[in-house]
Amino acid sequence: MLDPITERRNLNRPAIRRGDLYCADWCGCGCTWAEYNQACNEAAALAKRLGSGWKPRVWENGGWHYEVIRGVCEVKPSRRRLGGDLWTVDGYTAWIQTRPQYISERRDAPEEALREAMLLMKAAFDQLAQSFNESFRIGLDMGLIATS
Ligand SMILES: [Zn+2]
Repeated sequence: MLDPITERRNLNRPAIRRGDLYCADWCGCGCTWAEYNQACNEAAALAKRLGSGWKPRVWENGGWHYEVIRGVCEVKPSRRRLGGDLWTVDGYTAWIQTRPQYISERRDAPEEALREAMLLMKAAFDQLAQSFNESFRIGLDMGLIATS
């Protein structure tokens, strides 16, 4: 099983195991050891499903959460609580970091979410390229930009 990347903040005040609980004092939401293990297992399974280069990341913040990361791409599950500390995954959102903003898309399957986010990014890129070309031609026409 892949070791999850742990959240770097609050490392000086990590979650503490007390019986079934696994929760940091700064959180105090009663996060459980079972919930933590479910997040780690699902994160590892999702990283494996998406293939080489995907890394799981698990963190605590009013519950245990996870995502998988590869370069500028991230995939996070949409989860629905079933009661207690149990949840089910009912979709995925893929995020592409295109600084300064993100492009994201949600679908039932992580691969579909990634594909749709990538198509959105391509459409945005094509539009940007068209605007760049038009503005560059204006700059050339006005003599603001020299060809080299
Ligand atoms: Zn907690």
